Amino acid sequence: MPSRQEKALQRWREEKALRQVRKEIKRNRKTKPARHPVWLPDDVQDLDDLPDQGVERVMPRRERERRRALWTTALTQTDVEEDSTAETPPISETPQVKGRVIEVSTSLCRVKAGDQTLLCFLRGGLSAEDTGYTNVVAVGDEVLISPDGADSGVVESVLPRRTALVRPDVFHSHLRQVIVANAEQLLVVASWRNPAPWPELIDRYLITAQRHRLLPILCLNKIDLAEDRAACQQVLQPYVRLGYRALFASALQGEGVEELRQLLRGRMTVLAGLSGVGKSSLLAAVQPGLQLRTAEVSARRHEGRHTTSQVTLLDLQMGGQVVDTPGIREFGLAGLHKGELSSYYAEMLSLQGACQFADCSHRHEPGCAVRAAVRRGEVSSMRYGSYQKIYDTLPA
Ligand code: GDP
Ligand code: ZN
Repeated sequence: MPSRQEKALQRWREEKALRQVRKEIKRNRKTKPARHPVWLPDDVQDLDDLPDQGVERVMPRRERERRRALWTTALTQTDVEEDSTAETPPISETPQVKGRVIEVSTSLCRVKAGDQTLLCFLRGGLSAEDTGYTNVVAVGDEVLISPDGADSGVVESVLPRRTALVRPDVFHSHLRQVIVANAEQLLVVASWRNPAPWPELIDRYLITAQRHRLLPILCLNKIDLAEDRAACQQVLQPYVRLGYRALFASALQGEGVEELRQLLRGRMTVLAGLSGVGKSSLLAAVQPGLQLRTAEVSARRHEGRHTTSQVTLLDLQMGGQVVDTPGIREFGLAGLHKGELSSYYAEMLSLQGACQFADCSHRHEPGCAVRAAVRRGEVSSMRYGSYQKIYDTLPA
């Protein structure tokens, strides 16, 4: 048994090594070129080194300490001998299985592993504290579980997240809650009519996607209701010009469904759009039988221990998942300030520096290059209109 002094010394060495690693990480970050705030498809490749995505794996404290010790040992060669005798208890004797969280409640979650769906408790001691989030697991998380029955198990650890759709915690505004983990795309659905397209909402979703590093896809549904195809094109044209992926669809007549299927295949996609635009109809067209908003009902089958959550994840047979999260409209721009807004409008960002005033809000100032571009028709007046509306709703 190591003495208390030895233990303290060991802890001190570990701390020191960790501090060094953190410094190293920080230094690496600093030398990186500034991240361009405009959406670039290439961006998606370095999701892993984003500092705010909770990339550290969530695991029981005991396990975390054990791994830290191993990590430190690897970094400080002199300790190898001492540490090789250290006790390294396995966290669970049962073989662990990888799965994906498809539903979450306070202390339970539903995990899909292969063809099985298991109701799982979280291993006591699992902690989210190091990730900066309030919740340990979120829908979309990849987890390791130990099954303890035919349809139940225990979540042993949460694998690092590639992306996190987050919102400020309801009770602690300085903390954040993960709503969906590991999503890759945001499918923004609008409809030609009933309801008509709402540019401000579309732009809010595009900004939400960019802030959370999701690839946005725009879909204009119900084009069968349009007398004139050119009119439909006009709605999407400003977005196409900016390089956004956009498609026309009719869930009713099947147009655009194959294209949508290809876009959803093999990826995790979050759905966004007003109620009534045809999200459920489009999904049912992509995969017959696929139904949104049925999870709560099926959850009650587990008598007494049902889970309820606002977020639903559906598996696609062709590979990939679709996530429906009704709250996204409210939290998407949380924490965004007026002054940051124009950086999410690529067409305005490209005029940066051209305005007379460096801190131009592009609204009333004289010598504004953005307003001049709107007058010349180079910046879409629809986009500029939505910029003004969103600007008014943001804090200074
Ligand atoms: P959600 O609330 O976004 O899931 O919308 P739903 O899929 O429930 O659709 C709302 C209404 O629009 C339903 O009455 C659908 O039949 C109708 N709808 C959906 N897609 C289309 C479409 O492509 N064309 C037309 N004409 N109606 C559609
Ligand atoms: Zn300006």
